[in-house]
Amino acid sequence: AAKREGRGNFQFFSPAMNAATHEHLMLENRMWAALEQGGFEVHLQAQVELDTGRVIGAEALLRWHDPELGDIEPSRFIPIAEESGLILPLGDWVLARAMALLAEWQHEGLGGLRLAVNLSARQFGGGALLARLDQLLDQHPIDPSLLELEITETAAMRDPENTRALLRQLRARGFKLAIDDFGTGYSSLAYLKLFAIDRIKIDRGFVKDIEHDPNDAAIVGATIGLAHSLGLSVVAEGVETQYQRSFLRDKHSDEAQGYLFGRPMPAREFGDFVRAQAQPVPGS
Ligand code: C2E
Ligand code: MG
Ligand code: MG
Ligand code: MG
Repeated sequence: AAKREGRGNFQFFSPAMNAATHEHLMLENRMWAALEQGGFEVHLQAQVELDTGRVIGAEALLRWHDPELGDIEPSRFIPIAEESGLILPLGDWVLARAMALLAEWQHEGLGGLRLAVNLSARQFGGGALLARLDQLLDQHPIDPSLLELEITETAAMRDPENTRALLRQLRARGFKLAIDDFGTGYSSLAYLKLFAIDRIKIDRGFVKDIEHDPNDAAIVGATIGLAHSLGLSVVAEGVETQYQRSFLRDKHSDEAQGYLFGRPMPAREFGDFVRAQAQPVPGS
């Protein structure tokens, strides 16, 4: 039974906490089962070159369908997977799936498309990543520059020395590296010159209100300028409107990603989506 609040540290036993822990454990168990039984899937969201409108790649986004609970959002299950350590086998599964997709694309006329994968801090800090990627490259001999690894600022800054060393090694292998959710995490820009990265992804939170909020517009414009002067390319996330698209093109953002161009979709659909875009539209 719960002790009354304000008396020592016995809040740990509150009924609310128990319910949360219970749900957490339930989801964790179901995730282990899903991992064994094929309950996870990777969806792909297009990344588009702003100058030409061409799809030049995709981001792999994890999807979980539970037979009883239905679809569960990444924002709900990723934190639990992170906390429990399940993100390691799960993240590994995503990496293997991504490499396999890149290999398939070579045979399906979609060679040259880039695929971005999200890495958790645990995967990144664990020390096994490089060996695992080498192993996957043996299995799927693809051009490593077609695989982009996304890490957040927060994950990168947990252990900056380790990050710096690992990013160098990953880059030496030929992989591409992107900072995800740029601007929302660690608030120093110093790491941009320390870390060997290729690209930054401007967080959706800054892009959302550029039409109405001059501060957001200024931040996005300045971020693109900063990235370019450091030799980095830019992807803007969460682009939903024509206004945002034109704004970003005027500010010379290299690429964009968002519902305006395409929702995350199953891999097979994505292949058709890209092929349809590549066909000239009759009569235009
Ligand atoms: P993220 O890496 O920043 O991914 C972008 C998120 O924004 C995705 O949410 C995507 O569906 C959503 N999004 C894209 N375009 C738009 C748009 O125009 N409007 C709006 N409102 N949203 C848009 P999703 O798929 O729910 O994933 C959420 C987060 O979960 C991801 O954020 C990423 O941090 C994490 N995540 C997803 N898959 C993986 C994975 O395989 N491994 C790890 N470690 N994390 C993952
Ligand atoms: Mg991402
Ligand atoms: Mg992001
Ligand atoms: Mg995010």
